[in-house]
Amino acid sequence: MLRREFLIGAAAALVAAPARADPPGAFDPGLFPPMGSRAEFIEWMVAHRGEDAVQLGRRYDRYLEVIAFNDLWTPREKRAFLFTPREEFVLPEDRDNAYVGHYLDIGFGVTITPPGTMGRMTSALVVRPGDHVLEIGTGSGYQSALLTYLTDNVYTIEIIPELAARTRGVYDRLIGRGYKEFSSIKTSQGDGYYGFAAAAPFDKIIVTCGIDHIPPPLLQQLKPGGIMVIPVGPPGAQRILKAVKTVGADGATTVARSDIFGGKIIPFVPLSGGHQPPS
Ligand code: SAH
Repeated sequence: MLRREFLIGAAAALVAAPARADPPGAFDPGLFPPMGSRAEFIEWMVAHRGEDAVQLGRRYDRYLEVIAFNDLWTPREKRAFLFTPREEFVLPEDRDNAYVGHYLDIGFGVTITPPGTMGRMTSALVVRPGDHVLEIGTGSGYQSALLTYLTDNVYTIEIIPELAARTRGVYDRLIGRGYKEFSSIKTSQGDGYYGFAAAAPFDKIIVTCGIDHIPPPLLQQLKPGGIMVIPVGPPGAQRILKAVKTVGADGATTVARSDIFGGKIIPFVPLSGGHQPPS
């Protein structure tokens, strides 16, 4: 009897084992999954991307929460969220928690930003196809992965060498499994306070660590008309600003700032590096 129960259990486990098939092909910007129905979304994604139905269900449930808070604005940004496999960017022990609404530890004393915060920061950037986008603070790699569904020119810098190398490895493994869109991410290791002069200027810059001012080199590397989204404020208490740079006919630069969360305080991992005054 016991043995029979065990066998039934084993057979059920085999049937329920998540499908880990590779995505069948490269991401096509013309391809939109059904976004209005959980069941249709899961079915479509399993067929077109070969992803695990359980994780897709979690992704869709978080998506509904994120759009309820107005954190994703356009169909392209919504699709980017629904396409990005967040479970691949968290620590292995957190795969089942990948779609929780709060920060998760990713090692090295840093965290992956919550899905809604990342969603709104991404939407505020208004990324257009072909835009050159620079991210400061690669971390888990999730934010840049999300950006690849909006443009194919993504640059990202991480200051912690071991984390930069680990995340490069994550991208390489995913590219090998069929996520060819992640080939458009150019990773680098260094202090992002100084931007990425070799690839400048950028249409958009997203800073995913907090600092008490907008780094002048980043403003300099932003194109006229460009947008920067950056958490600004004292340690652990930033407000997320959208800064739009314009250059007048007289050559004078103007930076118009607005707060994308209406003044809400959102703590970020500090922007570290040599620019900081000694404490
Ligand atoms: N965008 C990340 C969020 C990671 S948290 C994600 O998708 O998971 C912020 C990251 O910024 C950390 O990995 C931290 O090491 C990095 N960071 C902090 N100061 C930095 C600097 N001066 N230059 C580049 N990266 C920095």
